[in-house]
Amino acid sequence: MIPVLGYSGARVAVLGLGRSGLAAARALQAGGAEPLCWDDSAEGRAKAEAEGFELRDLSRADGFNGVDLLVVSPGIPHLYPSPNPAIAAAWTAGVPVDNDIGLFFRSFARPEWNGYDVAPRVVAVTGSNGKSTTAALIDHCLREAGRVSQLAGNIGLGVLDIDPPGDGDIVVLELSSYQTDLARALTPDVAVFTNLSPDHLDRHGGLGGYFAAKRRLFAEGGPDRAIIGVDEPEGQYLANQLSEGVGDARVIAVSVTRKLSGPGWSVFARKGFLSEWRKGRQLGSVDLREIHGLPGRHNHQNACAAYGALRALGLAPREIAAGFASFAGLPHRSQIVGERDGVRFVNDSKATNVDSAAQALQAFPNIRWILGGMGKDGGISALSAHLGAVRKAYLIGHSARDFALQLGGLDLEICETMDRAVARAAAEAEPGDTVLLAPAAASFDQFPNFEKRGEAFIAAVKALHGAS
Ligand code: ADP
Repeated sequence: MIPVLGYSGARVAVLGLGRSGLAAARALQAGGAEPLCWDDSAEGRAKAEAEGFELRDLSRADGFNGVDLLVVSPGIPHLYPSPNPAIAAAWTAGVPVDNDIGLFFRSFARPEWNGYDVAPRVVAVTGSNGKSTTAALIDHCLREAGRVSQLAGNIGLGVLDIDPPGDGDIVVLELSSYQTDLARALTPDVAVFTNLSPDHLDRHGGLGGYFAAKRRLFAEGGPDRAIIGVDEPEGQYLANQLSEGVGDARVIAVSVTRKLSGPGWSVFARKGFLSEWRKGRQLGSVDLREIHGLPGRHNHQNACAAYGALRALGLAPREIAAGFASFAGLPHRSQIVGERDGVRFVNDSKATNVDSAAQALQAFPNIRWILGGMGKDGGISALSAHLGAVRKAYLIGHSARDFALQLGGLDLEICETMDRAVARAAAEAEPGDTVLLAPAAASFDQFPNFEKRGEAFIAAVKALHGAS
């Protein structure tokens, strides 16, 4: 655990008592603060009480009396579509609002580091898609190269739950836009921006607000090195703003759409080959085509971003290539879960938005595509440009009929449930086909989360195997 520094004797309200809220309460207490916990659900409050924390009803008129700080969980809206009433009340009472990420960055550096040869470093990964894969890949390659690394944030441990790092250790954080938007301290040593596409727009008041939230990671602390995907204008803008001049190596630019030239530092992938260039010279290359844990161009983008971060941390190209080769990939992201009679079954349940689904549709041939769930703002008509490999769509969930209308002339069938969709797709599949779950929608209409949806897909695939 990282005890929170700077609040000894202070009364800190903690709103939202899920995993990160409870971890924050513990870390605050360990640092000498007095946490006052609240959650709108009785279940959350019961968990805090069971650990002996004091409850404070933050919805009461005097809820913020004597409170020095409010710490908020990422699932609670702080501004859009409308601020949670407790957050609005904190503003009115003049109480600063922060989250576990802000507390972490304030508390990370410790006096005992004075005896270290190399101060511990933090790599923070943000972007619309590929954050988890990129963060997990960085962590994996560091460990394979014999470094000590901890993976935390949205993936792995909660930020305040990590062990205090030793000499030269690395912490790899995956940070969502909700987290970067609110944190009052954001000072990673290396920061990665994978890409930007519309998502979570309701929570950020539109695309501009969403980009602004992610950008804070680069603006607030000024990382020593920034690895930035420049295939969208927002990434190009960010890279340009951070560079002092043409040959500035503070930014490592990443692309999967073009060769990046010029005197700066860049990593790009074309036709499955990753290349690193600096000062007009090629420094390294990796053949990504044979790396099974990283299929498709979207994963090549993640590989380039991870490569840039690992080079910034001092790994050699051959150490990085060895790490890539042994990376198994993450569950629910382009995960091959079975093969039967020449038909592959791929679970990409994490493709919850249009862009990630589009990437999955480009990564495989002859697709029998299972999609649907709770559709997001903006619909899925943008996917029409990516349907070249799709043989037929099998629709499930709340938005099935709505999605069907947006898929134009595509051969399709409304299946309602996952079991039926898998059974129908498998029955019609021919050797060489890929049955792909890439929902382009949230899971909440039929499943508690995308993991459970992916597990339902895997169970349905296993049931087929059992039946054969
Ligand atoms: P995040 O943590 O940002 O949600 P993940 O690595 O969990 O990212 O991947 C989320 C979804 O996006 C998965 O469906 C995955 O296949 C897809 N994806 C992964 N990397 C990229 C990328 N670079 N660009 C677009 N989609 C991607």
